[in-house]
Amino acid sequence: MKYSQFNTLIPYKNNYVFHNSFTNKFLFINPLLKELIEASKNENNIDELKDIHIDLYNSLVDLGFLIETKTDEIQKVKGLIHTVDYNDEEYYLIINPTMNCNFDCWYCYETHERQSRVLDTSLDKITLFISNIIQENKKLKKFTIQFFGGEPLLYFKKTVLPIMKFIYQIARENYIKLSINFTTNGYLINNEMIEYFVKYEVNGFQITFDGNKENHNKVRFVSKNKGSYDKIVENVKKLVKNKINITFRINYTEKNLIGLDEIFNDFQDLSMKERNKMMLSMNKVWEEKNKNLGKEVVAFKEKAKTFGFKIPDSLLSDRVRNSCYADKYNQATINYNGDVYKCNAREFDKNSREGVLNKAGYIDWNEKRDYRMNIKLKNNACLECKILPICGGGCSQQAIEYDGRDYCVNDYDEAKKEDIVLGMFLSENLENV
Ligand code: SF4
Ligand code: SF4
Repeated sequence: MKYSQFNTLIPYKNNYVFHNSFTNKFLFINPLLKELIEASKNENNIDELKDIHIDLYNSLVDLGFLIETKTDEIQKVKGLIHTVDYNDEEYYLIINPTMNCNFDCWYCYETHERQSRVLDTSLDKITLFISNIIQENKKLKKFTIQFFGGEPLLYFKKTVLPIMKFIYQIARENYIKLSINFTTNGYLINNEMIEYFVKYEVNGFQITFDGNKENHNKVRFVSKNKGSYDKIVENVKKLVKNKINITFRINYTEKNLIGLDEIFNDFQDLSMKERNKMMLSMNKVWEEKNKNLGKEVVAFKEKAKTFGFKIPDSLLSDRVRNSCYADKYNQATINYNGDVYKCNAREFDKNSREGVLNKAGYIDWNEKRDYRMNIKLKNNACLECKILPICGGGCSQQAIEYDGRDYCVNDYDEAKKEDIVLGMFLSENLENV
């Protein structure tokens, strides 16, 4: 037997958290057991551990800390990544109905194309595409559709509604579990739309706030004298009252973290059950240079939890088993004009498109898609890393952008890697340690 390369030992409150990132299992051990483990490892005498402490030895084997000597651990991670990213039971489709937007946020990476929207011919191609995927993939069980953009609600009746109607019907007929989601600024939502969202069983919305009312209105405004905060808060409340889930995204900066708690006052009138429909997602604005905002963010998260917001499951820190949709083979991002991409966090320019939707409702992928699907696990540092099975070397887009250079998405910082592991452990076990 040998010790797994994916073991991490972290001191915590006079004891130690022992983690294996391939099995994602933890042991909370005392210093004596830690000494035994280290001694057997350093003296390369694992079998002796069996004689000294058989229960410890068996636990280490069961939880994957100790593995067969001949095991190729990198190969196992490759297999895991392949299983997750080539899952053929699910399809994830992102549609950009337009690249236009009713706001002009300073940090937005998208170029707003004022006249852009799905024309009737593209609409036919999109519905044909959905139909082909659902009818030709016999193993398919779940279809997720996400309306992105631009602001996807700008041309709601002409583009989004016909697609929603179509997919709702065809998914039902083929016994496919459907999940409909929107990433929107939330301003344009009205009562009529909400009736459709309920009718077509829309699952969730991601709606972004840029701080409290004052800060938000500096970024997202209708005119010089008219902000958007009150209207968006009102719309979020209407959605949760209709049992629709909200990912409550906060784009934070050093400045807008100040006074952020005031947000809670604006949702006081919701019941605990309604507040629980809102999942908090804290995202640092990419231009923000201050790297030391962690404490403020954690403090805000704790208040949000007490207030009744849901906090994301720590297991989501496992970026391999929960890889980004863009890493998956069964995923496409279709732009309003029929250009196809994978990642939707970069500009949608012609040079980076990975395919084109054709008249028959199929995607003609170019070589960029194969390149993306084969980009993972090429970075030397990752192959020696103890958290590779939960980091995966970052997402496919990061791997593409670093291609040819050595990199680490955690700055080669062992303390940062340990923080990720400890964060996962504490969110599962805080009450018990
Ligand atoms: S940047 Fe990475 S994580 Fe974000 S959408 Fe693109 S591939 Fe996914
Ligand atoms: S990117 Fe860094 S943390 Fe992630 S697997 Fe590679 S070396 Fe490890």
